[in-house]
Amino acid sequence: MSDFGGSGPNFPKVVYSDVIKCPQCGELSLNVVARLVDIKYFGKVIIESGRCSSCGFVYGDVYVAEYGEPKKIEVKVTRESGDYLVIKSSTATVVIPELGVEISPGPAAQGYITTARGILENVAEVLSAMCREGGEGCHRRLEEVNRALRGEADFTLIIEDPLGKSAVYRML
Ligand SMILES: [Zn+2]
Repeated sequence: MSDFGGSGPNFPKVVYSDVIKCPQCGELSLNVVARLVDIKYFGKVIIESGRCSSCGFVYGDVYVAEYGEPKKIEVKVTRESGDYLVIKSSTATVVIPELGVEISPGPAAQGYITTARGILENVAEVLSAMCREGGEGCHRRLEEVNRALRGEADFTLIIEDPLGKSAVYRML
């Protein structure tokens, strides 16, 4: 966990802090702090965290420090490739064509560090909730996602980021 900082003299440097408009309640009361950390494989990464003092909305974002150009990252996740470490920034869209998954960033979109499998696990959770509510065709889709999670089916992970803030690293 040392890469993510902690307390004491090595606590990540605050590069920016501000009070901005909260996407949930609209008040000018979202306190945001950005810290610069060095993360193995990715280099300099900005971690933003925020909390709204009016409604309690919690905000988090993670992105590479050097960005600007639109980026489209496409990796094939197979039994042989192993998993991938993913920085998914708040501006990124995640697409898994084989499984009909497209996650677009909404106004309160967050960024996080995860893995390709972690993204699939989130999809499985959302689908499970839909199935419990009797969603059309969701059991078949859930089974396809679970097959991919068990490594029985390959899938393609596409991260499209108009600001190029996201990154993917193959874990060997
Ligand atoms: Zn708020």
